[in-house]
Amino acid sequence: MMARQATCDAVVIGAGYCGLSAAIELARQGASVRVLDAGQWGGNASACNFGSVAVMPPALPATAHGEHDPAKRLQAALAPVRALREQIQAFGYDCAWTQPGHITLALDDAAAAALRQRGLEAQALLGTGVRWLDARQVGEQTRAQGVVGGLLNEHFALIEPARLLLALRNHAEALGVRVQYASPVLALEPGADTVDLVLAPGRISTARALIASEQAWSLSAAAAREPLVLYQTHLFESAPLTATALRLITQQPRVYGTASADKDYFRVHQGRLLFGSRLGLLPLDAEPQVVVSGLRSRLASYFPTLADVEVRQAWSGNLGFTPDGLPRTGRKGPVSWGGGYCGSGIATAVSCGRQLARLALADTTPMPSAGEGQAPRC
Ligand SMILES: Cc1cc2nc3c(=O)[nH]c(=O)nc-3n(C[C@H](O)[C@H](O)[C@H](O)COP(=O)(O)OP(=O)(O)OC[C@H]3O[C@@H](n4cnc5c(N)ncnc54)[C@H](O)[C@@H]3O)c2cc1C
Repeated sequence: MMARQATCDAVVIGAGYCGLSAAIELARQGASVRVLDAGQWGGNASACNFGSVAVMPPALPATAHGEHDPAKRLQAALAPVRALREQIQAFGYDCAWTQPGHITLALDDAAAAALRQRGLEAQALLGTGVRWLDARQVGEQTRAQGVVGGLLNEHFALIEPARLLLALRNHAEALGVRVQYASPVLALEPGADTVDLVLAPGRISTARALIASEQAWSLSAAAAREPLVLYQTHLFESAPLTATALRLITQQPRVYGTASADKDYFRVHQGRLLFGSRLGLLPLDAEPQVVVSGLRSRLASYFPTLADVEVRQAWSGNLGFTPDGLPRTGRKGPVSWGGGYCGSGIATAVSCGRQLARLALADTTPMPSAGEGQAPRC
């Protein structure tokens, strides 16, 4: 049999934060890189998410059974945010980074007690900027009903998701990476030194394939990878609201969310309401109108007068959860994969992409031209 010839050093599957970040790191190490994405530009979770860069560990579903070391999880949440901030500053990414403050809302006394404990742990690591608000103090910020208290965290950041994605894409392309849309990878056929990517139509042979999409983990060998549980989250943007409705939602430009894994979250964006929920953490492949009516019903529980708000756009997407809330990278021969952001994927996916690239490069095959300069296109 004729040996397969790799046409480039690495192919990354997925052009979200993870895939583009991996591509940047690979190209910086001198690799020739292609990124293939099944969808169109701007259609993925990295372009259409809520924009909240969390510095607290993500809440896990009650079914999560891994070990939970609070200090390790806090550090794991914080380090990627700091790294992302540095990357944004170092390369001048124009993604509208602000720190408006996030209030995690407690809807009953048990949630309030758990949240106060999380607040103390966060204070120990973050110092000032984290404080407990009682029901009256929360009421001065948002008129959301049923709230018994909340944890204000001024370290949380907000970005414009699509602008961060564009900045990463521009960065990757400036390093010679070729990003190609409408190119689903149907299967991987690993050989001894190379791996074939089966496309529709055609195939590409490469030295390394990096799976940078939680949805595409199934392309890797099932026996090698750890399980990832996928849940869905949903988000809508309203039509422009009246000044009265906007004041009801928030008195200041804050971001709000509940504490559980099945969380609701909202903020005002350019005079519109962005409202999201995980709607019961069901693996739900529901029709858009069912999603919107589920979101309206959650919204009405906080703001009854907004139950019939006009919805302009809605998005749904998967979130990959690991048992202990920490992301994972893995590798078997020429195939590597990363994911498991548990819903807090902005900073974590960028950081995971970098780690994924390093894992994929951790072999004996030397790169043709290691360094920071332009990598050859493939
Ligand atoms: C509605 C919503 C709101 C969210 N809000 C927040 C938030 O406020 N804060 C936060 O931190 N996180 C949030 N997230 C999560 C965050 O957006 C994701 O965790 C993050 O974008 C994941 O990045 P990624 O690169 O792994 O995935 P993606 O952005 O999903 O990119 C993966 C890409 O892989 C492609 N792909 C999949 N399969 C294949 C295949 N077989 N072949 C080729 N390409 C393939 C897809 O087309 C996709 O473009 C939200 C998610 C959603 C859906």
